Amino acid sequence: MSTLLIQNGHVIDPANDIDAPNDILVRDGKIVQIGKGLSVDADDVIDAAGLVVCPGLIDIQVHVREPGREDKETIETASMAALAGGVTSIVAMPNSAPAADNQTVIEFVIKRAREVNLVNVYPTGAITSGQKGDSLAEINEMKRSGAIAITDDGVDVQNEVVLRRAMEYAKTCDILLMSHCEVDNLTDSGVMHEGWVSTQLGLPGTPAVSEDLAVQKNIMLAQMTGARLHLLHNSTKGAVSAIKAAKAAGANNITAEVSVQHFALTDEECFGYNTNAKMYPPLRSRDHVDAIVEAIKDDVIDAFTTDHAPHIEPDKLEPFKHAAFGSIGLETSFAVMNSYLVKAGHISLSKGISKMTNGPAAVARLDKGSLSVGADADITIFDPDENWTVDAKQSFSKGKNCVFDGKELTGKVHYTIVDGHVRFKQGDIIR
Ligand SMILES: [Zn+2]
Repeated sequence: MSTLLIQNGHVIDPANDIDAPNDILVRDGKIVQIGKGLSVDADDVIDAAGLVVCPGLIDIQVHVREPGREDKETIETASMAALAGGVTSIVAMPNSAPAADNQTVIEFVIKRAREVNLVNVYPTGAITSGQKGDSLAEINEMKRSGAIAITDDGVDVQNEVVLRRAMEYAKTCDILLMSHCEVDNLTDSGVMHEGWVSTQLGLPGTPAVSEDLAVQKNIMLAQMTGARLHLLHNSTKGAVSAIKAAKAAGANNITAEVSVQHFALTDEECFGYNTNAKMYPPLRSRDHVDAIVEAIKDDVIDAFTTDHAPHIEPDKLEPFKHAAFGSIGLETSFAVMNSYLVKAGHISLSKGISKMTNGPAAVARLDKGSLSVGADADITIFDPDENWTVDAKQSFSKGKNCVFDGKELTGKVHYTIVDGHVRFKQGDIIR
């Protein structure tokens, strides 16, 4: 029996309404006691004085690139990046090569994650075969193999009949369907948000209505079919107002997330043809960002994610029009949330942590995200006031394409604990 005592920290556990100084005792990978001034002889002790102790962060939208694009990222490097960001559980998107549209790929991801043994990795399966949007993938088989959701993320299912059938089938199998919302005909060749900045740069833009319409379509089909629908990376005024209306009308089968860059940054990051600011959905104009922040304050949003999307350098050295979409984010997401929402005075630290712990756990029905006695000891310990400057070259991720590169953030992860094992300590991965 191995024991770990975390002493003198300020514990924030939104699932249990805890926001106070406390000690935590871990034994054999489980939380066994939480309280003030625990006096126990433990094998290991962490002095968390001046630090915040919270449940391990959960990121339900991560592109791990394995199998198939191990040059961009692997389950191992994504796991290391996660640990450095205080993230103990990741949900892997199925747009690998080949796409995870059958049980063999799902089983491979689970097996690799077990071999790597750093963070919890939950695979998702594709909605349609090859993510081509035509025929349904082996949804039930993938669920039985361990897929926790289905999604064609990276693209959206354009055909409404296929989407309806997918939702009906997802409802029958009781599996979550995650939608990347976009109308391809409206997006067309757009490479950034359509607006004043795209005009200045002379780049083809994507109108916000491309996302708005797709979100509406997904919500309406979810209301009709009763499927559990999760809306990925919302970025527009129209998207969050549609979600707010649906929730107000009692649609408790619908959940929604925001990727942290979409409440933090605007399309002005694209100035200078900065390809690290090229992503999908695109960084939006200030009015959209403000609407996203309001939706977060109103609890319209259930979870924050990264949409961690690593690329090799040549993919981002292209002219803006041709560069790859996406930014890495696992190592910065907590600090971005802390800097742009908590320190900016929009929400409390407890609420921000909730959107990265019990919030996403509820969306994906993971038995994670709390510090309850008996729970798996997935714990993150951070300094909420420490300033640091992002240096993407130092990232554990294979991708160095970070839209926050060079920015100063507040909030630094000191320890990341998974299943009672300290896996990250003051900058180092521990195996
Ligand atoms: Zn997406």
